Amino acid sequence: MSPDESIRPGEVWLVGAGPGDPDLLTRKAERLIRGATMIFHDALVGPGILALARPDTVLISVGKRAGRHSRDQKSINALLVEAARGGERVVRLKGGDPSIFGRAGEEMAHLAANGITARICPGVTAASAAAASAGVSLTLRGLARRLEFVTAHARAGEPLTLDWKRIADPEAVVAVYMGKAAAREVAAKLMAAGLPGGTPVLAVENASLPNERIFATRLDLLGLAVMTAIGDGPAVLLIGEAVRRGRAAAVAGRQAAGRSHRSGTAAAD
Ligand code: SAH
Repeated sequence: MSPDESIRPGEVWLVGAGPGDPDLLTRKAERLIRGATMIFHDALVGPGILALARPDTVLISVGKRAGRHSRDQKSINALLVEAARGGERVVRLKGGDPSIFGRAGEEMAHLAANGITARICPGVTAASAAAASAGVSLTLRGLARRLEFVTAHARAGEPLTLDWKRIADPEAVVAVYMGKAAAREVAAKLMAAGLPGGTPVLAVENASLPNERIFATRLDLLGLAVMTAIGDGPAVLLIGEAVRRGRAAAVAGRQAAGRSHRSGTAAAD
């Protein structure tokens, strides 16, 4: 898509709105939002981003917040098809990156099955925004060679079925999405699978927004911490040695010291 090319009538773009701060939108996302005649957005997409749409653009909230009423996926799929068939320039605006716990796969498949051209514009995902706000790195040389994105959202009444042995890797950072309600269970399962209770955890609520809260705790205190320190907003949990606060500064200090002896050897984490 060139800068002056606009979204075509009858086309659907799944657009990543990022974590909330309009400054974290991609330029392409902004262009698509301005070019849309109809925008179907999640509840997590904030007013600062919707304000970028043209005044005559139809904005339709299709919900999606845990525990609150929202349209089911089937009716969202149907609405997208109907709008595209009606010749609208359709944007399906999703929090973060559409391809991370965003049902992008289902929507793309449904649109394709109905002969509608659909494309994806990526966005900054919550874990990246949370790490940036906290000043930590999601990977860290020697401490986190693996980054695991998991969702702790289970269907009502069903237990979480994750491969805890695999996830409880002391050399990984685990980013837990939709993990507030299940935080205590996640911590217990990770510890039972061998991750030490002292493993640092950052709980970041409303990452990138003015009401952002960053709470540093440890795995064995996580259930309590989330209950007392985290409010109603969306929150992501970052678990692993690499997210110990102050770690980045310490590493930078070591690398700077190393450089004074052997210049040019500092590698990226
Ligand atoms: N596609 C989104 C994730 C959707 S799932 C993305 O890439 O970020 C919804 C979950 O994302 C929330 O329950 C929360 O865990 C996380 N989340 C979304 N926005 C967030 C924000 N601003 N701060 C912290 N967590 C956020």
